[in-house]
Parts: sequence; C-alpha cells; structure tokens
Amino acid sequence: MITQRLQRLTPYIPGEQPKDRPYIKLNANENPYPPSPRVAQALEVLAAHNPMNMALYPDPESAELRAAIADMLNQTGGVLCRTAVTHDGVCRPAPENALASPLTPDMLFAGNGSDEVLSFLFCAFFESDRPLVLPCHTYSFYPVYAAYYQIPLNPVPLHDDMSVDIPALIDAAQRTQSSIILANPNAPTARAVSREQIASLLDSCPRGQIVAVDEAYADFGTESALPLLSRYDNLVVVRTFSKSFSLAGMRLGYAAAQPELISALTKAKNSFNHFPCDIAVQTAGIAACSDVPYYVCTAQQITTEREAFTAFLRTQGWCVSDSQTNFVFVQKKPYEGRFLYEYIKQHGILVRHFAAEEIQNHIRITIGTEQHMRQLRQCLSDMPAAAYGS
Ligand SMILES: *Cc1c(COP(=O)(O)O)cnc(C)c1O
Repeated sequence: MITQRLQRLTPYIPGEQPKDRPYIKLNANENPYPPSPRVAQALEVLAAHNPMNMALYPDPESAELRAAIADMLNQTGGVLCRTAVTHDGVCRPAPENALASPLTPDMLFAGNGSDEVLSFLFCAFFESDRPLVLPCHTYSFYPVYAAYYQIPLNPVPLHDDMSVDIPALIDAAQRTQSSIILANPNAPTARAVSREQIASLLDSCPRGQIVAVDEAYADFGTESALPLLSRYDNLVVVRTFSKSFSLAGMRLGYAAAQPELISALTKAKNSFNHFPCDIAVQTAGIAACSDVPYYVCTAQQITTEREAFTAFLRTQGWCVSDSQTNFVFVQKKPYEGRFLYEYIKQHGILVRHFAAEEIQNHIRITIGTEQHMRQLRQCLSDMPAAAYGS
C-alpha cells in the first residue's frame, strides 16, 4: 500500500527524548532558558481575552510577525550575543553587523520551524537536473529533503580541521552550474566561516543559482550574512526561533531574501499549506521580538558558559575547536564517541553521537545552564581510564 516514492525516503532522526528517567538534555541544541516572560503573557491574553482568534484562520502571510522579525533583526544585525543594550533598553547591532539598509517585511518569509522553511526552499530553488553543492557533515536534514524532492547532491569534504572548504564549494558549483547550501555556523562541527567568505561564494556562484545560508546558530557567533542581502539577489538566509529564542516547542523559522525570492517561497507555501504559522505562534513570535534585551542576556549567558566549558575540556585533554554556536563538537582520544555518549547518559545527561565514520569519535554537547555544565564537568572529571571503555 506504500508508494515507491515513500519507500525510497530515509527520514531525519532528531535528538532522542527518552522518558525512562529525568535527563539533562544537552542533545538537541535547545535553549536551557525559558522564552521571554512577554511570550507567556501574550499567550495568556490570547487565551483569556481573544479566544475568538482561535476560531478564525490566522493571517496566512504572518504580516505583523514578519514586521516584528524585521524590527528585531534591525536591532541585532542577526547576532544577539554581540548586540549592545543601553540601560534604557535600546538595542543596536555591533558596528560590523549593522545592516546597510534596514530589512523590510517583504524580505521575510515565516514558516513552521526552519525545517519547513528549508523544505519550501528546496522545492522553490533547487533543480533536479544538476547536483546541489553542500559541505560533507552538515545539517542532516538537507539530504532528506534532497531525496524528497529528488535533487542529486554533491557533498564537498571539509578541511582537515573540520572547517568548511569555501574554494572547493565554489569549484564544485562552477563545474555543474549548481546552487549551494551550507549551515553557518556549521552543525554539528560548530565552526563558522566569515561573512567575507560567504561574499566570495556569492561572487563566484554561477549566474541564476542560489546560495542558501542556514543561520540557525548565528545569534551565538560573530557575524551574519544578513548585511549581504542588499548586495546579492540570489542569497537566502534561513533562521530559526528554536535555538536563540527558546521557542523550539512553538515551531517558528524564517527566511530573509530579496522580495522576488520571498514571493517564490510564498508560492511554495501556498501550494502546500496556507497557514503554517498558527495564531499562537504568531502571537508568541511577535512577543519574543519585542524583548530583544532579554534574549541578548540569555545568548550572552550561553556564550560565556560555552567559553568556560571549552577551557575546562581543554585542560582535561579534550580536543575542542572554537565554537560559534550553543554547542561544542568534541573528542577525547582514544575514547570512542559511542562510549563517551553512553558514559554521560548513565550519569543522567544526554548528548548527541553521530554514526558517520569520520565523526564517529566526536560527540556534540549543547551548552546548558551553569548548573547543567557543572554537573557535566563533574561527570567528565570522574571518567574512567580509556582502556576501560574503548
Ligand atoms: C536546529 C536546526 C534547524 C531546525 O530548526 P527548527 O526551526 O527547529 O526547524 C535548522 N538548521 C540547523 C542547522 C539546525 O541546527
């Protein structure tokens, strides 16, 4: 009874959510802090005072939400942890992240999590007659969507230090006149390329092809590609409220691009589901965008904790590259990644292990609260000698 089409698919597997005991969840890059209190207040008002809104269809284009996102991005430049907040709550991007011309709502598309935005993007921009170029070891949903839309892939190896090889991506794209997708900072490696390097991709990208940059973690980094939007009409930046805005449970993601590309995403959406953002998520997103100072604070707590944890791991002999995300991607020789994952899980903490051969001895650890990280440091300090587990 099942189609060939479906039988050919291998679905994405998200981080596990076991219920056998309470765990500290450091395996899905969720935010350890709750959303801004304004989000809960706005949802209470919706439920208590405006329940008729739930009986009616929501705004299919999320106009007010997109205006709120534009306003938020103009305050942050797309990098929360570098945003300056004055004592009376006025927010400004770090000078290097300021947007040359402000983002406008017609440059934004909102969807049911950035995963759904990515699905529309694959549908709207990537052809089946040539391979899509992407780095090896990147977000593992990209191959799933490629299979779904029958888009061939050309994965390009990372550098030995696990950074993305920009010249190799350019070469590959030019050889086949292909579009490019990458996560920046990359997942699961946590490393970022500079905006300068993204600009070089855009400068060398074949005519008429798209460069898609998935910035799920850019709020914890140093630079965003958003300032390039005014210069390149083939750039799409995809972002999410799941990580830096503590709304993974509400499902809200967006794309930023020139209006022509946004119209194409809207057409893809309207060919599938007119209303991907329900009234609750539109309400929550607007409230979240109104409280940038709160999120600057939580993003900075996470980056501070990340730096402290990185320093700790290095003193313990772990191999840790510089992270520009809310997680670290680490190994400790000669332990096997699976052993590290199991050992930490026995101590009530979940981290993520990947089976792919080149990265199978790494684990990915989400940065939690100070208390989460203290507990993890304790557990790692007590780790048995390597011969024991591997
Ligand atoms: C978490 C993540 C996403 C998905 O985010 P949602 O908005 O929750 O769907 C997309 N891309 C990357 C690289 C991610 O890590």
